[in-house]
Amino acid sequence: MDEKDCIFCKIVRKEMDSKVVYEDDEVLAFEDINGRAPVHLLVIPKQHVANLEEIGALSDTVTKRLFEVSSEVARQHGVTEGGYAVRINNGSDAGQEVFHLHLHVLGGKRLGMP
Ligand code: 5GP
Ligand code: ZN
Repeated sequence: MDEKDCIFCKIVRKEMDSKVVYEDDEVLAFEDINGRAPVHLLVIPKQHVANLEEIGALSDTVTKRLFEVSSEVARQHGVTEGGYAVRINNGSDAGQEVFHLHLHVLGGKRLGMP
């Protein structure tokens, strides 16, 4: 899938609506449309990379920002103290449905391993 058809690229370009919770020049965070926890956010690089196999295309700064922003939006949503999960479903066996790298930030309930 290229950037033209990628739904997360469309969200970055504001061609599709989303509930944005954080944005800078390189990183966007928004609410998951099908939240599976009281807090379920997605943190993405604005640059299209499919998954970890392509992470070398991101700068070290952007890669680090993905984790920093995950922490920031978790704090913003009040789950830092209780704890939260940051998950990447990488590839089809892991259940990756959208092939634009994204970090799930999940919190507000007890989260186990699948
Ligand atoms: P994956 O299974 O690829 O790790 O997760 C993709 C996530 O994107 C799912 O949790 C799904 O609910 C979410 N999602 C899919 N389409 C949209 C959309 O159009 N808008 C938003 N906000 N989330 C989406
Ligand atoms: Zn994309």
